[in-house]
Amino acid sequence: MAKRLVLACMDRRLNSYLDENYNDGNTLFLRNAGANAHCLLQSISEAVSNEIVDSIVILGHTDCGAMKVVFDALANNNMSYSADITNKVIHPFYDYDYLKDAGAKLNGLGASERKEAEAEIRRDLEIKNVEMQLSFLKELTKSFPNINITGSIIDLSKINVPKDNPQHKYSVIFTRECLSKFSDMCNLAHTNPFDTYILMASTIKEALVDLEVAVGLFHIRDIKFVVPEKSMSELISSDLDWIKNAANGFLKDAHISVEHA
Ligand SMILES: [Zn+2]
Repeated sequence: MAKRLVLACMDRRLNSYLDENYNDGNTLFLRNAGANAHCLLQSISEAVSNEIVDSIVILGHTDCGAMKVVFDALANNNMSYSADITNKVIHPFYDYDYLKDAGAKLNGLGASERKEAEAEIRRDLEIKNVEMQLSFLKELTKSFPNINITGSIIDLSKINVPKDNPQHKYSVIFTRECLSKFSDMCNLAHTNPFDTYILMASTIKEALVDLEVAVGLFHIRDIKFVVPEKSMSELISSDLDWIKNAANGFLKDAHISVEHA
């Protein structure tokens, strides 16, 4: 049976919504910071050519942390982001001159006006992100013209999201693309779905920049490699070996563990 591929942001607030509205047992997920197809070339190509994927859905969302990074870099001209984050998360937006122009306009505004204007620019950026990912994906999959590609934005103000709790300790899960429910994955990892960012890619290499966003920018220290299906065991172990050998600087304060089904 043909499968649907959903590319969604790693944001913890989407987990229950995705389980309820998209996780029907016949949907493969890929997730990273900002639903960024540019970083998932290998994962998407593999899913499209190995699986019978008849549709792809891109899901951006409001109040997206990844879009805040893009906004900060281009509108506020903040150059302090690492090379990987700059190249993979920010670079796809370099041609959006309006962000630089918007940044210049914000300078003259008072605090509350500025806050409102910034929010409007970020909403615009969230829409542009989904449009950009859509055209990129159409180009990437042009030898599979029967795949239906659509995109939409999840409005967090309209879905059931518990209030942020500063006492909570957040985690990030990495796993391969699979059909498991996010609630089951979190159960396996002994985390609360609302406190858990979820990264899904065909290799950890493709999700490394997103792990850097989670650890380096969002200050999450608890990283779990989750093996929800036995068949994944070896694949995930090789990801784990790779990341331990790669010993990326941003991982030095993180605690990495593995959870098996
Ligand atoms: Zn997001």
